[in-house]
Parts: sequence; C-alpha cells; structure tokens
Amino acid sequence: MKRGREILTFGRYLRRRFGTRVAKVPLGLSGFTCPNIDGTVARGGCTFCLNESFSPNLGSNSEKFYLKLSEEENPILHRQLEELDRQIEETSRHFAADYGIESYLAYFQSFTNTYAPLSTLERLYERALEHKGVLGLSIGTRSDCISDETIEYLVQLSKEYEIWVEFGIQSVFDETLEKINRGHDAASVEDAIYRAKRAGLNVCGHLIFGLPGESEEMMLETASKAYEWGIDSVKYHPLYVVKNTLLANDLRRGRFEAIELEEYLSVLTKALKMKPEHISVQRVCAGIDNDTLLAPKWCALKKSEIMAIIRKRLQQEDLIY
Ligand code: SF4
Repeated sequence: MKRGREILTFGRYLRRRFGTRVAKVPLGLSGFTCPNIDGTVARGGCTFCLNESFSPNLGSNSEKFYLKLSEEENPILHRQLEELDRQIEETSRHFAADYGIESYLAYFQSFTNTYAPLSTLERLYERALEHKGVLGLSIGTRSDCISDETIEYLVQLSKEYEIWVEFGIQSVFDETLEKINRGHDAASVEDAIYRAKRAGLNVCGHLIFGLPGESEEMMLETASKAYEWGIDSVKYHPLYVVKNTLLANDLRRGRFEAIELEEYLSVLTKALKMKPEHISVQRVCAGIDNDTLLAPKWCALKKSEIMAIIRKRLQQEDLIY
C-alpha cells in the first residue's frame, strides 16, 4: 500500500516524549476574561469571539468578578480551585475509562489564561500539577498578556514539567488584525513568541484561515512567518461565524463570506507541505456547536466527517495525518 509522509501530530510528539498516550484536559475557569473584552485594550473582543458582550447569559453562573493583571485581590480563588479540581477529575476519569489514557496536560483554554496576577496563576497552575497523571500545562493566552515575570516563573516550572504557551497569531497582516478588532498587531505576537522561545518555553501558534479580505497567498504568508518565528506546534482552523458576534452582523449584511471547503483544503494542504517537520500539529479543524454556527455551512458536518475529508485530501498529497 502506498504510504506518504507522516505528519508529526501533537499526539505523536507526546507519545514519543513520554512513551505513552497523553491527552489535554481542557479547563474553563470563572473569573478569567480578556483585555480585548473588558475595555483595557478594547471592548467587545475579536469580531468572531462569542463572549458576554454579546451574550449576557454566557457565564451567568459565574460571579461577576473578573481578573486583571493589576488586580492583586482575587476573592474567587477558592471557587476557581474547586472548579479546576472538578474539571480535571471528571475529564481525566472519562479519558481513563473510555480511552485508557492516564497521562495529561492541563489545558487552560478559555479566554486569556495569563491575564491575572502572578499570585493567582501560581496557585492555579501548581494545583493543576498536583493532580495524578498531570505531566504539565498548556496555557492559552494573548501576546500582550504575558509578562517577563510570568515567563520566568513558567521556565522554573518547565524544569520539572512539560510547559506549553499557546498564542493566537491568527494573521501576520495588521490590516486583518484591525478588521477583526484583535487589539494587538503582528509585531506584538512576534515579540511574545521570541521572548517565550528565548527563555526556553514550548510555543504553539493558532492560525485562522478565511479571515476577512485575506487571499490564499496571505494565509500562506501567515503560516510561513509563524514557522519562521520559531513555534514548536501549530493549530489551524477555518474562521467560523457563530451567532451573537460582530462577525455575524457582517455576514448578515453581506460584508463577509466564509471560506469554502475546497479553499480551506487547498490552503491547509499547502501550509502543511511548507511546514518544517519538527513543528507538531495540534489541530487541522476545530469542533463547533452546530446550534450556534452560521457559516461556513460545511463546518456543520460531524467532526469525524470533516476529519475524514481532510485526511483523504491530505493522502492524495502523500501526507498522513
Ligand atoms: S483574544 Fe480570545 S478571548 Fe479575547 S476577544 Fe479575542 S478571541 Fe475572545
């Protein structure tokens, strides 16, 4: 049977590194927000981001307290620790029972997970690392929210644990970042990646294909720059439009068209072919809740169906995902 080049997925990377299967346990804790939502950088957030600015019910169970870099007080720390314990225990139990996986990275996923005083971050990260089977952390954040002090602290943790920082790159074109109200420019991301890499941390970059006004050439330029900046891992996904976002208004008014499946397959294949082999791939398409999805329509397919289409296309190009 004809085989092709096997892409280094993040799962394969972790298996080689630890000799066993390792899963990411996603965490979403009350109190975290984003400077692009709370008015520090901007209000409302990125145009595709579903957050409380548009959907007041989102997070209605959380107390109305939000962390900031400048807030030294954290009256909900106790509650956050309880949530963290519960989420890690429930998800790891499920991974163990359903897939026999007993090693994990705690994935601080929702909103901006370094946008809090370091004293809070230390308590949360170290609590996660105390859980059985947790080998390390993956921390999703923005380039304008990670201080040198936090980087230094993570470097100390990385001497004992597997530590990853995930930055939203999205696009290297400032005009695109402005269109999506990103609240920072490409130079900010380049600088944050450089600082994290120079300190010795593992860095994952998130890329979105199909941003407003972008050609395939621009999307590939973003991928190429992200590789050049030294990321160790990458996530790709198409731009989704979900209900109750600014982008949903643009879609309704005909100011934005979502990326077609064929366009996405084309740019993804090229981006993967250009990618240096050592950069692991964490995602080639994200799952989405169909009730909120407005476009692209093909993203309403089941995740397994989308993955089958992507795998087939990659195989035609001799790439094994
Ligand atoms: S940076 Fe992330 S959390 Fe903040 S507004 Fe943009 S998408 Fe939302």
